[in-house]
This record gives sequence, structure tokens and C-alpha cells, in this order.
Amino acid sequence: QGDPRLKAISEAIRVVPHFPKPGIMFQDITTLLLDPKAFKDTVDIFVDRYRDMGISVVAGVEARGFLFGPSIALAIGAKFVPLRKPRKLPGIGLLPRCAAGEVISESYVLEYGKDCLEMHVGAVQPGERALVIDDLVATGGTLSAAIRLLERAGAHVVECACVVGLREVKGQHGLNGKPLYILVEPR
Ligand code: AMP
Repeated sequence: QGDPRLKAISEAIRVVPHFPKPGIMFQDITTLLLDPKAFKDTVDIFVDRYRDMGISVVAGVEARGFLFGPSIALAIGAKFVPLRKPRKLPGIGLLPRCAAGEVISESYVLEYGKDCLEMHVGAVQPGERALVIDDLVATGGTLSAAIRLLERAGAHVVECACVVGLREVKGQHGLNGKPLYILVEPR
């Protein structure tokens, strides 16, 4: 890709070796957020891509999908739906008067262990067109769980988008056949 903004975006991401575990090259996007030009360019590239795709839902993956998703949602006139880690979203209360939203969950396998994403039932209506956003895709397990949640709610997942993505995943059809859009590769 010849977009000159991508080089600066890539260079604004700090690489932290052996975090949070030995052997992991952690791609730290907090330094991208410290660079207003690179941060704005990142959001602008996504907004330019998605503004005319009829997307009504931007679903962000906790936690770092929350840093990019709302800006994109506001700019394209979509709602933002947080996909959260377990027991963060208020579910049905014990007392009838406390009843909040009902929650649906999808678990996924991590390198060591399991995790889970949750979404409020009713946040997304059947037939809505959704974009899923996170900071980084590695195996695609997290994005796949996000896709399953949205599809259970009847939404159509148009694409998944990440700031950073590995080449192997980019070329794969691991995301239930959904397209993946990434800006830069890990350094
Ligand atoms: P995966 O489900 O394997 O695609 O992992 C993606 C999720 O794990 C995202 O939510 C990322 O924020 C996080 N993640 C995985 N590997 C890294 C890494 N090397 N640097 C930063 N975040 C990572």
C-alpha cells in the first residue's frame, strides 16, 4: 500500500518485547494515541473506508477496540456497541425492578486458557450492518467470537478492522469467511 500515512502510524506504535509474557512482542498502541497526527490519520483511514458502506453498528472489542471504535462510529453516523469481557455488562438484575439488559456470551480459546466476550441483547437489531474493530489481530480468535455474537443478534458483519495485523491472518479465511482490513503489520 502506498499510503504515506501508514509508515508514521507504524512507527508510532511501540514494540515491547517479552510483555506480558516471555516471547511476546507486544504492540503498544498507547504511543500512537500520544501522537495526534498519527492517531487522527488512523481514524481517518477507517472513516474513509467505511463511511459509505451502510454500516449502522461499530462493535469495539474490550479494551483497545474502545479507543478507536467510538471515533469511527461518530464520524460515519453509526452506533457504538461495546463487546466486553465477562461480567462487566450489567445483566438481568436479581430484583425485577433492577432488570437491565440481557447478555449473550461467546467464549474463545487463547494461547493459554479461555476468554469470553459479551454483548447486550437488543443493542443490535436483526439485519443491521456491523463493523468489528480491535487494535490487533493475532490468531483471529477474539474477532471470531465478536463475529459470532453479532451474527447471533442477526446482524451482518461487513468487515473486521484492526490497526495491526499479522500477515498470516490477513491472508487467511479464519474469521468465519469475513473480510479483515488491517493498516500495518507488527514490527
Ligand atoms: P487473537 O485473538 O489471537 O487474534 O488476539 C487478539 C487480541 O489479543 C487483541 O484484543 C489484542 O489486543 C491482543 N493481542 C494479542 N497479541 C498481541 C500483541 N502482540 N500485542 C498487543 N496485543 C496483542
